[in-house]
Amino acid sequence: MMSSENKTTTNGQKVSVSVPSDPDPGHATVKLTASSDRDHKYLTQAVEEAYIGVERGDGRPFGAVIVHKDKVLVSCHNMVLRYKDPTAHAETVAIREACKKLNGIKLWECEMYASCEPCPMCFGAIHLSRLKRLVYGAQAEVAVAIGFNSCVANGVKGTELFHKSSLEIVKLDASIAEQVFQNTKGKFTL
Ligand SMILES: [Zn+2]
Repeated sequence: MMSSENKTTTNGQKVSVSVPSDPDPGHATVKLTASSDRDHKYLTQAVEEAYIGVERGDGRPFGAVIVHKDKVLVSCHNMVLRYKDPTAHAETVAIREACKKLNGIKLWECEMYASCEPCPMCFGAIHLSRLKRLVYGAQAEVAVAIGFNSCVANGVKGTELFHKSSLEIVKLDASIAEQVFQNTKGKFTL
């Protein structure tokens, strides 16, 4: 069972999250934390990337930022149309670039900020790359509502394996992230 909760944080921002109402080993744990200015700053950058990607014709409205030791290491967006590559989601592009920049395959010290909840493919890549923290904005269902394949909606809650991971997952206030889909509708091809 999933339940929705609205929580008002110390700085007055509302955080809406869905969490399992009972301990459930079949679901990844989405942490309820007060949203910090830091998290909102990087999430906003990921959302801006989503707009940039559509404006440039690179891909669909998704952005991702990887932060390493409190500095932006990679800031990118969906490149599916530009690269003619259905796997070039913002999150996988970000992971590839971060690994190149750090010259390694483990992103232990990195956090990812994604404008939208990652799809199962990206969620798998996030685990394989050992990112320590994932912060996302819109729920994948918002993307599905404008025509994206419904399989994208099962990333965070769909896979039992991920529950055992040490990855911290934070869902932030989604309004700016959710608006991306309405604001870019009709400006990209599905
Ligand atoms: Zn993806």
